[in-house]
Amino acid sequence: MKGAILVLSGPSGAGKSTIIHKAGEAIGDYYFSISTTTRAPREGEVDGVDYYFVSKEAFEEGIKAGDFLEYATVHGNYYGTSMLPVQKALDEEKLVIFDIDIQGHRLVRAKLGDVVTSIFITPPTLSELEKRLYGRSTENNEVILKRLKSATNEIKAIAEYDFLIVNDDIQRAAQEFILVANSARLKHCKEDLNGFISQWLEG
Ligand code: 5GP
Repeated sequence: MKGAILVLSGPSGAGKSTIIHKAGEAIGDYYFSISTTTRAPREGEVDGVDYYFVSKEAFEEGIKAGDFLEYATVHGNYYGTSMLPVQKALDEEKLVIFDIDIQGHRLVRAKLGDVVTSIFITPPTLSELEKRLYGRSTENNEVILKRLKSATNEIKAIAEYDFLIVNDDIQRAAQEFILVANSARLKHCKEDLNGFISQWLEG
């Protein structure tokens, strides 16, 4: 594996996509992994850009075929990462960024180990998250309550992550993200290092 992997998790409404967008070119050549989901698109979301939106049946076919690097049920819908485009981006030495939940992070870490760098991104408090979710009004009450409940559970997994970014100031959060993303590229897995050691000894 030549590329690097950066996993982002955090409650919906933490500002993950805004941070990636702001970081833009400062993090070099990257591939943002587009997940597949069975949830309905929100207003303005585009199939193939924000997610691949599929039926439950199609998703379950994908599971059977072994297409997913990881998948999980989040807020009652399936979400998963397809292996093929990720593998291609890694072969092209890109930084691959995943926006996945805490279950996905555990699976990716178990499969890919020390080459993974992870960041948990969150608003400063639960009440601030609540304000943001109601403020963006893309979901109904029931969905927002479900998301807030998941957030109270997700926050307890912070210690499993390499870094924590508290997004109370978007400029600062984006700067911190740039630092971590660029450091993630310098991380190597153990196999890479063994190759390097052999070359170093012979060189
Ligand atoms: P949203 O519905 O707000 O777009 O995403 C809901 C949650 O699903 C977020 O916590 C997001 O990180 C997570 N998620 C998105 N794509 C994936 C995926 O491919 N795998 C997993 N495990 N979680 C995902």
